[in-house]
Amino acid sequence: MNELAFLRDTVGSGPAGTAGSSAQHATPALAEADRLMTVCNSCRYCEGLCAVFPAMEMRRSFSDGDLNYLANLCHNCGACYYDCQFSPPHEFSVHVPAALAQVRTESYAQYVWPRAFAGVFARNGLFIAIALAVAVAIFIAGFVAWTDPGVLFGTHTGPGAFYKLMPHNTMVLIFGAAALFAILAIGMGVRAFWRDIGEPDGALRDTGSVWQAIKDAGRLRHLGGGGAGCMNDSERASNRRRSYHHLTFYGFMLCFASTSMATLYHYLLGMQAPYPWYDLPVVLGTLGGIGLVIGPIGLLHDKWRRDPDLSEGTPFGMDVAFLLMLLLTSITGLALLVLRATPAMGLLLALHLGVVFALFVTMPYGKFVHGIYRFLALVRAARELEHP
Ligand code: SF4
Ligand code: SF4
Repeated sequence: MNELAFLRDTVGSGPAGTAGSSAQHATPALAEADRLMTVCNSCRYCEGLCAVFPAMEMRRSFSDGDLNYLANLCHNCGACYYDCQFSPPHEFSVHVPAALAQVRTESYAQYVWPRAFAGVFARNGLFIAIALAVAVAIFIAGFVAWTDPGVLFGTHTGPGAFYKLMPHNTMVLIFGAAALFAILAIGMGVRAFWRDIGEPDGALRDTGSVWQAIKDAGRLRHLGGGGAGCMNDSERASNRRRSYHHLTFYGFMLCFASTSMATLYHYLLGMQAPYPWYDLPVVLGTLGGIGLVIGPIGLLHDKWRRDPDLSEGTPFGMDVAFLLMLLLTSITGLALLVLRATPAMGLLLALHLGVVFALFVTMPYGKFVHGIYRFLALVRAARELEHP
């Protein structure tokens, strides 16, 4: 029996739902992913491209948890689509990035906490926009009510200038509550994902695997298409998308470091914001803000130019909404830095805080979670592939 006949007999042909493995799956997307993983397991041509294929080769059958794990391990570099001899219009219709993207998106809704919020992933762009608009409106209205229009549009300089518009303790209370809620919701999602993929709770204390995952995530190892780079709008591989991801991620981390440093300045050193441009919170925030402008713009640009075949299965609205949120956060933050000694400061502070608040509370319900589940999938991959 030749290879094609063997595969046809093993997995059937065409997009699934029905064909393929006899295993029962919760959704047609999982059934399709099972069919494709079974084809790939017989073929194995792509095993050097990323961690998905070596992890797949360790299995002979695929539970829903296995497929959710593999889907979140996929970095959507597109290499296996262009390299595949069975991609459409071949009768096997193998499109691994699309199938795994579909499963990945479904998994976000499956692990969400509280469960009642599962539906927001299907209307993500709209949800983010409404949350953002409401948050900004509440902040601006709060400012006006708390102070008066004269204070809102006045010029305030020197230490404590920001707190003339909103007391520091109120800010801490509001943002502390939003951050705690986001941490709780994401933590519950992490627990659900980790259990679904069959890992014991204590496995996250495997420091060797966690360190390996940190290194893999830090350099986006599996967005490299096996070394040549990832594909976006054509078969030509490039590291451009990876660079934009790095700018976005490290920009975000620098902004986080800036906020943490400002908190230490306030409580440990008794120094009130705004700080001079040469102080650490401002330097970190400025560098992070620049990364968070260039990175999301680059990713949005690449998303618009992406090969429509490669975009299949990816949640366009959710991706764009998250990138726009990051962009708005950095633009309002940088604008506040530049114009903080002018009458525009009050309005810009309201806008910036509103956007940051919306970013916090929508984190567990948007694209942000892809980084969390992908990191956990990397920990598991390190456990089974590199530290078995
Ligand atoms: S994606 Fe195609 S070429 Fe790659 S392993 Fe699967 S079937 Fe083979
Ligand atoms: S990371 Fe790239 S090569 Fe690996 S499964 Fe995903 S799209 Fe294919």
